[in-house]
Amino acid sequence: MSFVTKVLRRGLTTSALRMAAIKHVTVIGGGQMGVGIAQVAAQTGHQVTVVDQSEEILAHSKLSIERSLSRVAKKKFGEDLKAAESYSKSALSSISLSTDALAAVTKTDLVIEAIIENLQVKQELFSQLDKVAPQETIFASNTSSLPISDIAISTDRRDRFAGLHFFNPVPVMKLVEVVQISEQSDATFQSLMDFSKSLGKVPVVCKDTPGFIVNRLLVPYMMEAIRLVERGDASARDIDTAMKLGAGYPMGPFELADYVGLDVTKFIIDGWHEKFPNNPLFEPSPLLDQKVAQGKLGTKKGEGFYPYGKK
Ligand code: NAD
Repeated sequence: MSFVTKVLRRGLTTSALRMAAIKHVTVIGGGQMGVGIAQVAAQTGHQVTVVDQSEEILAHSKLSIERSLSRVAKKKFGEDLKAAESYSKSALSSISLSTDALAAVTKTDLVIEAIIENLQVKQELFSQLDKVAPQETIFASNTSSLPISDIAISTDRRDRFAGLHFFNPVPVMKLVEVVQISEQSDATFQSLMDFSKSLGKVPVVCKDTPGFIVNRLLVPYMMEAIRLVERGDASARDIDTAMKLGAGYPMGPFELADYVGLDVTKFIIDGWHEKFPNNPLFEPSPLLDQKVAQGKLGTKKGEGFYPYGKK
C-alpha cells in the first residue's frame, strides 16, 4: 500500500471514529426508566420522542416528566418562578410522544429501548426497528440483566449496538454503564460515551457479562444477605444496620431489595442461575421465592422484607 493511501486510510478511520453528535433520541418504553432518560435528554438540549403502547400510558409518562421537571426546575431556580417555568416549558417542548415505534425511528440518531425485561419482546422490537431506522442510527438497550449480544443478534447492526444502562431515578443518579459487545465499532462506543457525558452523566465502560458492573456486585450481595437470614445467622434489621453503620452504605441490603422490587431481584437471579447453574453467587433463595409468591414485592406493594403501610 502506498504511503499516500496509508495516510488517507488513517485519516478516514479517524474521522469515521467521530460520528455526528447525537441530536435526536427515541426512547422506547415510557415507564419508570424511559421517562427519566427522556427527561434528562430533553433537559440537556436533545430532541426526544417517547414511544409506548397506548395514548393512555403516554399521558401518564408525560405527567411523570412534567412533575419531575418541575422538581428539577424548583431546585435549580428556587423562588424565580418565571425562570423555573420557562426551563420546564423548554425541556417539555423538546419531547414528542408516539405509539408508532416504526415511524418514530425513521429519523433518529439513537434508539434507547427501556421496555419490559423480556428477551423475546426486545428481540422482536429491535428486529422490526432495524428494517426501518437509518443506517447510521445506533441502537441501545437499557436492560438490567439480559445479555446485550442476545438482544443485538436480532439485528444486522451489531457494530452499532450497545448497552446503555441508566440507574433509577435517572434524573438523580449520575452513572451510565456503556456496555460493549465484541462486534461494536469504536465509533459507536465513542458516540455513546460522548452522548452520556452530554447528559451530565458519568459513563463507565464494561463488557457484556451478567449484571455489568453494579448489578454483578449488588445482586449477589443482596442474595448473600438473604441467605444470612435464611440460616438464622442474623436478622434483616441488624444486617441493614450493620451495613449502614459498618460499611457506610446509605441503605442496607433489605431496604435496597425492597426498593428494587423482590420480583425484579428474583427475576434477575433466576435468569442468571438458569444460564450459569454452577455459579454459587447466582443460587436462588427459598425465602425470596416465598416473599414473591405472597405478593410481598417491596415498597411498591406496601410490604417486602419490611412493612411500608398500605399502597
Ligand atoms: P416499566 O414497567 O416501568 O416500563 C416499561 C414500559 O415499556 C411500560 O410503559 C410498557 O407499556 C412499555 N412497553 C412494553 N412493551 C413495549 C413495546 N413493545 N413497545 C413500546 N413500549 C413497550 O419498566 P422500567 O422499570 O422502566 O424498566 C424498563 C427497562 O429498564 C427494563 O429492561 C429494566 O430491566 C431496565 N432497568 C430498570 C431499572 C429500574 O430500576 N426500574 C433500572 C435500570 C434498568
